[in-house]
Amino acid sequence: MKALSGYTPDGLVRALPDLLGREIPAYRGRQISEWLVRGASSFDQMTNLPRSLREELSRCSVVYSTTGQEALEDGDGTVKLVISLHDQAKIEAVLLKDQEGRKTACLSTQAGCPMGCVFCKTGTLGFRRNLSAAEIVEQFLRLKFFDQGLSNIVIMGMGEPLLNLEELRKAVAVIEDPDGFNFSKRRITLSSCGIIDGIAGLAEKGPPLELAISIASADSELRSRLMPVNRSNPLDKLKTALLDYQKTVKRRITLELVLLRGINTRKEDATALAAFAKGLESVVNLIPWNPVPGLLFEGKELETPSTGEISSFASALEERGQHVTIRYRRGQGVSGACGQLGSL
Ligand code: SF4
Repeated sequence: MKALSGYTPDGLVRALPDLLGREIPAYRGRQISEWLVRGASSFDQMTNLPRSLREELSRCSVVYSTTGQEALEDGDGTVKLVISLHDQAKIEAVLLKDQEGRKTACLSTQAGCPMGCVFCKTGTLGFRRNLSAAEIVEQFLRLKFFDQGLSNIVIMGMGEPLLNLEELRKAVAVIEDPDGFNFSKRRITLSSCGIIDGIAGLAEKGPPLELAISIASADSELRSRLMPVNRSNPLDKLKTALLDYQKTVKRRITLELVLLRGINTRKEDATALAAFAKGLESVVNLIPWNPVPGLLFEGKELETPSTGEISSFASALEERGQHVTIRYRRGQGVSGACGQLGSL
């Protein structure tokens, strides 16, 4: 059944006659949208709709398509929601709170992931399916009403967002609609492993989101071993796509580097990354690997670098002219940190 959470207010006004198979005044669609914005997740809560209409709606649609959530809270304030889908698949969405008081919702776009990055738990799950726009919006809604005051969204959870761009576009349209949730696009970041066609599609048809690219290494041979996507989406073409994106969407691009002890933190890795970043307006975000037991790289267990290894790599990048940030580790207690989703 259609989930009403996946419609913008105007979209809902247009969709209701088809769903109900009869004409209905436009203001009814707007009333339903207002209830969604206020946090309603069932028709029973929409008390200004006649009971007969609520019953009619419940025969042809649902308010939410996702069927339940389990909340796991870490001592550092991170909340992970494990959300059940109508087909029994589960996805995870995370609320991260940083030291400046920002609350960031991390949303998933696929159940599982086909990309197989070696440092990521989700990559070991395999791919189940793309999420619908409603399933993406509902992660936002569940986190929004779990803890008020969301300031940012990162589309970075389970899955590769640029492989589900059509549904993601619809979801962003709902989240940003000024007559609905009115959440600014400027506060939404999309993180990709570097799908070149998807970056071009985003530049051409939008939405113009902040873009973060998981690089892992700018040494092509090493990157292919860490991230199989590199074999079909090589670094030189990725760079061209990023330059084109930056011409259209005039924003700084984040280059995310998961740091793996003894693997991608050498001086030559810093040199290769600086060469890749040349000409791009970018910031390098270092992410010390969040441990996932059993993840192997060419037969050896992955490890998190020591503090000394992290700071000397950061310095090597800065010496090569890069602007560097280091991501605080948050959410490890609930396996909600970057690369850990799907651990439970
Ligand atoms: S890092 Fe992202 S793209 Fe790579 S396997 Fe994990 S979820 Fe998929």
